[in-house]
Amino acid sequence: MFTSKTGVFISFEGIDGCGKSTQVDLLINKLKDNGKNPVLVREPGGTGISEEIRDTLLKTQNSLMSSRTEALLMTASRAQLTKEIIIPELANNRYIIADRFKDSTLAYQSGGRGLNLEFLIKLNNFATYDIDPDLTFFIDIDPVSAEQRIKSNSLDRIESAGIKFQTKVRESYLKIAKLFPARFHIIDGMDTIQNIHNSIWDILINYKNEIS
Ligand code: ADP
Repeated sequence: MFTSKTGVFISFEGIDGCGKSTQVDLLINKLKDNGKNPVLVREPGGTGISEEIRDTLLKTQNSLMSSRTEALLMTASRAQLTKEIIIPELANNRYIIADRFKDSTLAYQSGGRGLNLEFLIKLNNFATYDIDPDLTFFIDIDPVSAEQRIKSNSLDRIESAGIKFQTKVRESYLKIAKLFPARFHIIDGMDTIQNIHNSIWDILINYKNEIS
């Protein structure tokens, strides 16, 4: 299916419960079926240091955490992940699949928490050594449907923030998608799991054809 050897950096974004992890798993398996050996990274986390930061970020007991602390911890976790995994693996021409990356900071800390978007873009670029994903799949879903999907699971600190918060995050994602139209693909998260997977695969194949 793929002819060129170059790897692709793909990120998945969306509010909690939109179906990111489901699609990440399907894409990883499909890439493996096509002879690729993709690298999966999960945000926040993905390295020893980043996972320690993740624990602090998601602990429900840390309800006093300020929005700025949250933004700095998120980007600190990302800086470590970028330096330790993403940069070396891109150099190895591996496919990198990120379950959340820099746009989550823009959507959650700007839209959700009200921090300045332009500042966060700069902070993000510092943390990621100016690296952007080649493709970003934003799986768009209304927050009520997303909450129904995840309500049976135990919620972490950020997932517990409620429909109003998730609505602001979703609106922010839609705004960010317009800022980065070349890499952003808005996917209808209410479609079936298989249809979403097929759309993502088609976009990836088209992208590979364009760059090879
Ligand atoms: P996220 O990683 O974005 O939080 P998940 O992939 O964990 O979301 O999905 C949350 C729940 O919704 C899971 O129970 C999953 O099986 C279900 N789900 C995912 N995608 C769909 C879909 N397109 N239609 C219906 N249910 C879905």
